[in-house]
Order: sequence, then structure tokens, then C-alpha cells
Amino acid sequence: MQSTNLQPYKQIQGVYVHIPFCRQKCLYCDFNSYAGFGADVMAAYVGAVCREIAGYSKDLPVNANASIYFGGGTPSLLPVDCIEQIVSALKQYGYWQQPREASIEANPGTVDLAKLKALRQMGFDRISFGVQSLNDDELRAIGRVHNSEQALEAIDLAKQAGFTRINADVIYGLPGQTMASLQNTLTQLVATGIEHLSVYGLIVEDGTPLQKLVDAGKIILPDEDEAADMYEFVQAFLKARGFERYEISNYARNGAYSKHNLVYWHYYPYAAFGAGACGFNGSARFTGTPAVRNYIEGITNGKPVYDVERLMPAVQFEEFMFMGLRKKSGVNLLQAKERFGVDVRQKFGAELAPFIARGLIKNDEDGHNISLTEAGMEVGNQIFEIFVTD
Ligand code: SF4
Repeated sequence: MQSTNLQPYKQIQGVYVHIPFCRQKCLYCDFNSYAGFGADVMAAYVGAVCREIAGYSKDLPVNANASIYFGGGTPSLLPVDCIEQIVSALKQYGYWQQPREASIEANPGTVDLAKLKALRQMGFDRISFGVQSLNDDELRAIGRVHNSEQALEAIDLAKQAGFTRINADVIYGLPGQTMASLQNTLTQLVATGIEHLSVYGLIVEDGTPLQKLVDAGKIILPDEDEAADMYEFVQAFLKARGFERYEISNYARNGAYSKHNLVYWHYYPYAAFGAGACGFNGSARFTGTPAVRNYIEGITNGKPVYDVERLMPAVQFEEFMFMGLRKKSGVNLLQAKERFGVDVRQKFGAELAPFIARGLIKNDEDGHNISLTEAGMEVGNQIFEIFVTD
């Protein structure tokens, strides 16, 4: 499909595939992921995903360089031939052409050298490991199945398999975590030579086992002050080691940004396949039914498996600003005007002025771009409020 002459926001720029299986459910997790399904359900699921890919009606053309992202859950839990089936379907139906990046999430303990080599051979060029911590007590406290040795080994094996683009997810504010243990985790990860880290604060989500344990006093989390100190420590530590904070929670050396996540932050359209996967065509969001068996059954019987949420233009603009300002590079105001007909300076100049005066938002010299300063990122939510319309 011809896609080169269209603006980037009128093409599918990314493709997400959701693999909702995990070996064990982590205590803090509220993602759409499930433990306990066997090989038969996984195979049926993969068949359904391939059918969904084949039957998806593209209302937008797919950019030839659309990025690919297999997320979860734990995609690396799938056998190689299952992953290969999905990759083949994406290629056959034009979603996987010459991707600017093809990324897959993996958990330590679910990969070996042969599997990692097979993934490289299929065309994945980036791998993202859910490391979270390199302290075994902390890992156990949040119900992770791996230990620190397996995490470091997984990174090493990925390098041996030929992956040069490797991310590790890290969480701060874990039960029992100290500044020293956080420092130790980051020191070891930086020493592996990987060029990307995603660092999040632990969130106690409603309804998770972690919430019950915290409420019952069985798990003690670092208090707010300690968590705030950890957050500041992460910024300073990574900055001093050459990591650029290019998005609120993401850090890269040598410009090794996540190209797929940039699609979301640019608010570009993306396709999504799988249970609970969420796609976006520029004006509506499509969310697949989350339950694995319902998804398989729906696809098999040709029943609709999506909830469609149409987004009012004001909401689209709000989301565009919200996503764009998460990036260090900020928002291009010419694009805001072109895409949404909104002159940001004219409409929001009065609200933005105090934040600019306090050094929380900066303008570039030609006035075509606004972005949050490092201090602004700390109070991002207050700034995002400006653009909320209701
Ligand atoms: S591995 Fe990730 S998706 Fe799976 S249960 Fe743990 S946090 Fe959730």
C-alpha cells in the first residue's frame, strides 16, 4: 500500500502484539496477563492472533518502516515456532515490511541462547528485559520468578545472540529496597553496557495481591520521602553515566531511544493485535477483549472482539499534548496546528506563562516547540492539566 506521501500521523507507524501469558503473576501486576495456561491454549491463541492479523481491515495505510513491538505478559514464554507464526502473518499482511525497530519483551529465566538467536534471526533487533531489581530479596518480595543472576545472564546471552539494543526495566520504591540496593542494581546494569533503561516507581494498584499485603501490614514499602529520594537519585545517577532522560521514565545512551514508544509519544496511529491489545487510528481507540478464551472464541467465530472508543477532537488534542510533553523534545506547535487546528500559544499562552516564568516549560528559539524542563517533569501533571478541556 502506498504510504510515502502521507503525513506520518495518517499512517500506521507501529504494530503491537500482545502475548498475555506469564509463568507466574507478580504481586504488583495489573496488566492483562495470566499464569497457568498450557501449550494448547497458547497455540490456539497464536492461531487467533494470526487470524486477527489476516482479517484486520486497515483503515489507514501501513508505513513501510512501521515499528514492531511484542509485549505482554511474557512474549518470550511462547515457543519459537509460535512467535514465528505471528511474525510470518505480520509479514504476509504487510505489517512487518522494513521495520525501523522490531522489539520483544522477555523475562529472565524464559530465554536461552538458542531462543534468543532464533529471535534475532526472525528480525527482532531490540529486546526488553523485565529485570526490576538485582536484589534477590526485593525480587522475591514482589513475586518475580527470576533472580538477579538470571537477569544478568539473560542480558549476556542476548548480547551473545547479537542483540545490541537491549533495555532493562527497573522499579524503585520496592519492599525492603534501600538507596544502597538501588544503587547496586543500577551500577550493575550500567556496567553491562546496555544503552536503555526504563525506570518506574512502584505503584500499588487496586485489587492486586500487593495492595492486600500492604494494607495488612505484611509488606512495608519505603515511605514517600524515601521514594522521592530514590527518584532523585535515579536521575542524578543515570545522568552522570551518560544516560539522557528522553522521556519521563526512559533513559538512553547514545540516542538509543525506543523507536516504538516514540510512536505513542508522537501520538501516531498504531495497530494492535491480541487479547486486551489497544490500537489507535488517530481518532479512535480499539481495545481487544481482555480474557484469553473470549478473545480466541470471538476471533474463531467471527464475532467482534473490540471495544471502540471514538475520541472527540478536543480529547485528541489533549492526548497529543499530554503524550508529546512526556518527551524531552516536547511538542511541535506547527504540528499541533496542522493536526488539530489549535494555536497553542494563542489559546493557552496565559496558562503557560507562569510555568515558563518558573522555568518549568521552555520554548525553543523559533517558538515552534515547547517542552518541559527537568524541573517541569517533576510537576508534569499540573502542566498537563492546562490542556484538559472538560
Ligand atoms: S512478568 Fe510482567 S506482565 Fe507478567 S505478571 Fe509479572 S509484571 Fe505482570
